[in-house]
Amino acid sequence: MSRLKQLFLLIPVLVLAVFMSGVAYADKNLWQAADNVYRYGPGDGYYSMFVVTDDGVIVVEPVNTKHSEGLLQAIRGVTDKPIRYLLHSHNHWDHSLGGQVFRDQGAKIVAHTEAYEWMKANQRPELALPDDVWAGSRKDIVLGGKTIELHYLGMNHGLGMTVFVLPEEKIAYIADIVTPNRVLFAIVPDFNIKEWLRSLSEIEAMDFDTAIYSHSQAKEPFGSKAEVTQTREFIQDMQAAIMAEFKKGTPFGQVPGAVKLPKYKNWAMYKEWLHLNVWRVMLDMHMGPFPWRPDHAYQMNK
Ligand SMILES: [Zn+2]
Repeated sequence: MSRLKQLFLLIPVLVLAVFMSGVAYADKNLWQAADNVYRYGPGDGYYSMFVVTDDGVIVVEPVNTKHSEGLLQAIRGVTDKPIRYLLHSHNHWDHSLGGQVFRDQGAKIVAHTEAYEWMKANQRPELALPDDVWAGSRKDIVLGGKTIELHYLGMNHGLGMTVFVLPEEKIAYIADIVTPNRVLFAIVPDFNIKEWLRSLSEIEAMDFDTAIYSHSQAKEPFGSKAEVTQTREFIQDMQAAIMAEFKKGTPFGQVPGAVKLPKYKNWAMYKEWLHLNVWRVMLDMHMGPFPWRPDHAYQMNK
């Protein structure tokens, strides 16, 4: 067989390999995580997930109208099945706008009651209020024989923060509380550090192999539990470094400039944000965990 012929025979194998690795898809904004499970990201810094079942589509995270319109188009490139559910991870406007795009398709919009209460009190024109609200720590949605688990872990970031797990595919969708290969977000807004660490440990104990993150600076489209562990360790390493400065007697205002975490120097925004991260984590250590609330919605099912 000629070299050229051999090369041509290799092409279908290579194409198959690329598809199976989950890296490439016909739509450049789409990555396939498993049969019927996709990650969508149009380069706006936000990733959504959707699951195609025999009875329709489940979408996680609308982000905003523009993102949702692109997401709907991407879904239509894969299936013409009806959109049955739009699921929210949490309350924040930068994740929760654009739901009307899916409501117009007939989707039920689902959020945890804590996220819903906040949305009701802080409306925006692009924010479609959820019509299916749940409480407690766990809800399962079953559609077309597929199950998606909704886990509310109590306080960590924002309100009603939900971690989604597809138990059959062992895939999790995690928003904001883990961002691979990046330091914490700027001034670490609306995070309770202590409860966040507890939540990360609980996620590490969950049963999944593949993670889709709402934000990621990793080269690979999909992560694993490793990034959850790395985030927990990063926060703990920062707390230890701050404690070491306290013990040395470094003046309070000089601690953020003094703390260096060279192990993480290649993470995105290390130079720009590390001192902001330290300010926030240091204030939390100094003042006590904040924001805090009596977590009745979490207690209900515990
Ligand atoms: Zn958020």
